Amino acid sequence: MRIECIAIGTELLTTRRLDTNSVWIAERLAELGLGLHRKTAVGDSREDLAELLREALTRSDLILTTGGLGPTFDDFTKELFAEILGVGLKENAQSRADMLAFYEARKRVPPPANFKQALIPEGAEALRNAVGTAPGVYWQDPPGHPGKRILMFPGVPREMKRMWEEHAVPRLRPLAGRPMHTLRMVVGGVPESTLDQRTQEVREQHGHLEWTILASLTQVELLARGVDPEALARARAAFEPILGPDLACVGEGNLEDAILDRLKARGETLAVAESMPGGLLASRLTAIPGASQAFLGGATVYSATAKTALLGLDPTLLAAEGTVSEATSRRLAEAVRARLGATWGLAVTGNAGPGAEGDAPVGTVHIALVGPGATQVQSLNLPGDRNEVQLRGAAWSLDLLRRALGAQGR
Ligand code: AMP
Ligand code: MG
Repeated sequence: MRIECIAIGTELLTTRRLDTNSVWIAERLAELGLGLHRKTAVGDSREDLAELLREALTRSDLILTTGGLGPTFDDFTKELFAEILGVGLKENAQSRADMLAFYEARKRVPPPANFKQALIPEGAEALRNAVGTAPGVYWQDPPGHPGKRILMFPGVPREMKRMWEEHAVPRLRPLAGRPMHTLRMVVGGVPESTLDQRTQEVREQHGHLEWTILASLTQVELLARGVDPEALARARAAFEPILGPDLACVGEGNLEDAILDRLKARGETLAVAESMPGGLLASRLTAIPGASQAFLGGATVYSATAKTALLGLDPTLLAAEGTVSEATSRRLAEAVRARLGATWGLAVTGNAGPGAEGDAPVGTVHIALVGPGATQVQSLNLPGDRNEVQLRGAAWSLDLLRRALGAQGR
């Protein structure tokens, strides 16, 4: 069954509003074992929308639209569908009563334009909207298109989601295939292209699964989708030896989840001293509920003043060794670890740009990890603009710690 989703609204063609409805619907369809073949965003233009609806009727079995069901001049999804399919609009008594009740409950009188919301194409079914005034529409076997289905939802995400559960799920479930399952493997410290190469053979051996490599500034994800959970489990087993310690976690978590889980399991704690990342490490770690069981906290020691006042670095040594240096990172890691009595101290200095800092070019990062074993220092030169260097630097730092902890799996 070919399914397409049409997001209607001029604002969706700009940065003013992102089309979140289509991606949400895509996820829900996948859960039902239904695939989405196409999604389109179109402005509130009668010509453009009419053209798109005509095309959709020729190529898709199920058309899902969101938006354009409101009372204003730029809402005409139902009218256009009716026009194209050669039927009129008819007032739905229930929709009218629901709309009046909605306003009455708020002690308001509906504006005259709102009555058009109760108009439904002849032969279609009105779908009640429990949280708004615009009913949706379900149209099965529309004139001239036997076997096809059209579902129209309001654009307001909250209303659309509620109506999806109430009206779409019961109607689509009988059409559903086998639900899709996802295997997600998060990989730390490996560039996308390297991961692509290293995994190519195994991906080909498991070619019946749908593979995606998804890179961001902070990690790379390897995603497999398929209907058979056992096939996914076999793929996971095949990948584990190939990825080895680069595999940060499997499932929904990220680097920081893997770290916190591992610290908790070992009964250990962490303190951080952040210069260049400016708090990104603490922010990522504290985003996880229950982080305080393992993450004690730390200091954003962005200036030389903070490095001496908060963590007691010797100003003379700091000047001699440089604020961006391996030696300073190591002293900061030792100091924050000692002050908080943590098992691990992690510190990062660097230059995120835009200008050079002392003799450290933009992208220079020095990460120091002090723990029960020996001290580790890693120096990197990271690409990108200021924000990218900060994000990448934070990710590399967390990954250094993760590897030291042998943290893997979730
Ligand atoms: P409408 O139903 O076209 O009147 O849209 C109502 C509200 O929902 C507006 O604030 C839209 O910007 C928002 N909206 C419409 N379509 C979408 C969409 N695809 N994703 C997210 N928000 C949307
Ligand atoms: Mg709109």
